[in-house]
Amino acid sequence: MTKQPYAEPWRIKMVEPVKILTREERLAKIQEAEYNLFNLAAEDVYIDLLTDSGTGAMSDRQWSAMMLGDESYAGSRSFLRMKKTITELLGFPHVVPTHQGRAAENVLFSATIKAGDIVPGNAHFDTTKGHIEFRQAIPVDCTVDEAADPNLELPFKGNIDTRKLEACIAKYGVDKIPMVIHTVTCNTGGGQPVSMENIKAVSAVCHKHSIPLIFDSARFAENAYFIKTREAGYEDKSIKEIVKEMFSYADGMTMSAKKDAIINIGGFIALKSLETYRKCATFNIMFEGYLTYGGMSGRDMDALAAGLMESTEYDYLHARISQVKYLGDKITELGIPIVKPAGGHAVYVDAKAFFPQIPQIQYPAQVLGVALYVEAGVRGVEIGTVLADRDPVTREERPPKMELLRLAIPRRVYTNNHMDVVVWGLQQIWAKRESYKGLKIKYEAPIMRHFTSTFEQL
Ligand SMILES: *Cc1c(COP(=O)(O)O)cnc(C)c1O
Repeated sequence: MTKQPYAEPWRIKMVEPVKILTREERLAKIQEAEYNLFNLAAEDVYIDLLTDSGTGAMSDRQWSAMMLGDESYAGSRSFLRMKKTITELLGFPHVVPTHQGRAAENVLFSATIKAGDIVPGNAHFDTTKGHIEFRQAIPVDCTVDEAADPNLELPFKGNIDTRKLEACIAKYGVDKIPMVIHTVTCNTGGGQPVSMENIKAVSAVCHKHSIPLIFDSARFAENAYFIKTREAGYEDKSIKEIVKEMFSYADGMTMSAKKDAIINIGGFIALKSLETYRKCATFNIMFEGYLTYGGMSGRDMDALAAGLMESTEYDYLHARISQVKYLGDKITELGIPIVKPAGGHAVYVDAKAFFPQIPQIQYPAQVLGVALYVEAGVRGVEIGTVLADRDPVTREERPPKMELLRLAIPRRVYTNNHMDVVVWGLQQIWAKRESYKGLKIKYEAPIMRHFTSTFEQL
C-alpha cells in the first residue's frame, strides 16, 4: 500500500480570473517597465511570485471576522481580541499595532536605536537593514557560515553563530548594542529556519550581557513547522506549543502580519517590557495612530487574530511548505541550482550558478527574473546585488555572497499546476542559458534602490 497523498486542508470558494499574455506582449511590457519587475502592472503577470507578503487568500473565518470589526478610535473590541490572541498564543503582555512590519521596525527602532549603534543578528531583512542604516547604525550579520553555501543541505541554515555574536559584543561593547535581531525564518538567507536550540543559545548570550533579544517574526509559524519536523524532541509537540516556547526566549518581536497572519495589511510589536512599550507608544501615536489601532482598521485586527490561529495549525503549514518543496524538487530535477533545502515560503534559484558568464555587478538574478517573466509570465524577485544596495559610506557596490531569484509562494493562492508552469518557464531559459547577457542600472535611489531602479540591457 502506498501512502495517501497529501492535499490542501481547504477547498476553493471564490476564484479570481487571471490574464495570460503572449510572449511578444510580455516582452513589450518588460521593456516598458525598464526591466524592473516592480514596474509591471499586476494584471500583466500570470503567476505572481513577487512576494508572499499580503498576497495570501483569507479564509471564510477571517472574512466573517471582518464583519465583527469594531472601528472605535480607542479601546475597540477588535484590538482587545487581537491583543488577547497575541498574548495567549505568543506570550507577550504588551502589544503595539502598526500598519505593517516595517512600521513596527520604525517605531521600535525610533525608541531604541541611535547613531553609531550596532545591531547583530542573522541576515537582516532589507527593510530592517534600511531602518537601522537610516539611523546611522550598523547591522552585523552573524549567520552561520554554512548558510552561504547554497548546496549544503542542512536543517537550520538561519541560525546565528553564537561565536560570531560573542565576538561582535566583545568588539563593540554592550553599550553600543541596543538589541540582537533574530529573523525567524531568515528571509534574506533563503527562507531558512532557526532551531530551538539556536534560539536558546542566542537568548542565553543576550541575557548574559543584558541585551534584549528581538525576533523579526514574519514567518514564525513556518519556523515552528521546521522545528517540529526537523528538530529532535519536538515531533510530538503541537505548533502552538512550539511557538509559545520560541517566543518565551525573546524579549520582544516585530511582526509583518502580511506573512504568517495571512492578512493583506497589518503588523505589530509585542513586548515583555512595560518600559520599552511606553517608549514605543509615543512614536506609535506620532507615526502610526492611536495605541489601539496603529494604522489598522478594526476589521483588519479581527482578521489578523483569526489568521494567527489558522497559520499555527499543522495541517495548514504542512500543505503550504509541501507546495514550496514540490516546486523546489521539480526545479532540482532539471539540474537547475537552487538554495538547498527549499525555504518555508519560497524557492531561491542560484543565479550566479545559472548564468556563470554574467558578472555579479551586471545583476544575473535580475536577468533571470526578467527572463522568467518573458518566458512564462511568472514574476519573481531579485535577492542579490541590486537589493544589497551600495555601501552607505563608500557608495561602492557590495555584491552579496549569494545572488538569487526568489520565487515566493502566496499562501493558499496557487495550485501545483501553477508550479508546473513556473518549472516549465525555467526549463526554457536553462536550455539557452549561455545566450543571456547582463543589465546595467540607468536610475537608482540612494536607499532601497531595488523597488525603483531602471535598467538597460548590455
Ligand atoms: C516582510 C518582512 C518585513 C517587513 O514587513 P512589511 O510588512 O513588508 O513592512 C520585515 N522582516 C521580514 C523578515 C519580512 O519578511
